[in-house]
Amino acid sequence: MSSIVLFGPPGAGKGTQAERIMQHTGMPQVSTGDMLRAALKAGTSVGLEAKKYMDAGQLVPDEVIIALIEDRIEQPDAANGVMFDGFPRTIPQAEALAKITEVSHVISIEVPDEEIVDRITGRFSCANCGMVFHDKFNPLPVDGCPGGEFEEKRRADDNEHTVRSRLNTYHEQTSPLAQWYGERGILHSIDGNRAIDLVTVDIIDALN
Ligand code: AMP
Repeated sequence: MSSIVLFGPPGAGKGTQAERIMQHTGMPQVSTGDMLRAALKAGTSVGLEAKKYMDAGQLVPDEVIIALIEDRIEQPDAANGVMFDGFPRTIPQAEALAKITEVSHVISIEVPDEEIVDRITGRFSCANCGMVFHDKFNPLPVDGCPGGEFEEKRRADDNEHTVRSRLNTYHEQTSPLAQWYGERGILHSIDGNRAIDLVTVDIIDALN
């Protein structure tokens, strides 16, 4: 079994692309951000602890994240590998991951900082089907959500102030992982500052 890592700054399109690649490869998406938001919604101690870091645009401590991933990877649907989205975000997380599963490809989706703020502050999703939209770049179709009944959801940390902290955190703590994976010969850099479909095609090419 081997897994894929989707890597890149917040707002690079990892979640959107993960959904498309999931349809192509059948690999389940594992998003630590989604897992933390679910834990918070359920009111667990992990969720409540994570909230203070998430609200500040900082990273949740490695031990918490690694424990979540160790549990998740034991689930039956992960037996043939998964697609990680938003994990690993530090070198200790990548080292822990290397001990529990093989990673065959790291797809680095690159988008300049000035583009990120615009992208994140306008994004929203449908609470019922999970589809992601954007006020300017990908508005809700006039005839409604393609997934069925629409219910708007916006993330609490998708505001300009928190986005800037998340970008700083990314440059300081997460971006060094690109070199780390580059040295291991599995990093594929993709220009994420293009139409969604073009990015998907390049990712699928890299995976083949
Ligand atoms: P995301 O949905 O991937 O943008 O993550 C939202 C927030 O959850 C981040 O800003 C962090 O506070 C936290 N988070 C998600 N994944 C990780 C991770 N792998 N390591 C540390 N913190 C994380």
